[in-house]
Amino acid sequence: MLDNLYRQVILDHYRNKQNFEEFEGEQVRKVHYKNPTCGDVMTLFLLIEQDHVVKAAFIGEGCSISMASASMMTGLIENKSLQEIASFRVAIEELIRSGKLPDKINLGDSLSLQGVHKLKARHNCALMTWQALDKILKGEKEYNPLFTQSI
Ligand code: ZN
Repeated sequence: MLDNLYRQVILDHYRNKQNFEEFEGEQVRKVHYKNPTCGDVMTLFLLIEQDHVVKAAFIGEGCSISMASASMMTGLIENKSLQEIASFRVAIEELIRSGKLPDKINLGDSLSLQGVHKLKARHNCALMTWQALDKILKGEKEYNPLFTQSI
């Protein structure tokens, strides 16, 4: 089971989703993503300038883990370079799949998802938003995480 403190962080993000909005624009990239194992759906919006994500937002519906993870991710990647985001991507995959806490990378509130590694059926819920991100950033040479199999 998820630790109580972590569960509280997840529920806070679920009830009060950050960056939960659509935005439009010629430069805005978006992708729709579905997690068939749980029925979670989301659309991720991203505005990139040079090699930085300057704005990230999402809409969608799904379980608390999927929505909280998207809320956390959009906050985490804003104003970060694609290279930094690739390092987050690697760290989050390890955190969710094996529970391994990163040494040097600060995943912020996303660390609260650590307990999800014990709930194998929910791995995709936590990773959905990151897989949506992979789809948008596929082909960017600065974004080169090791987990290309999920792209
Ligand atoms: Zn789910």
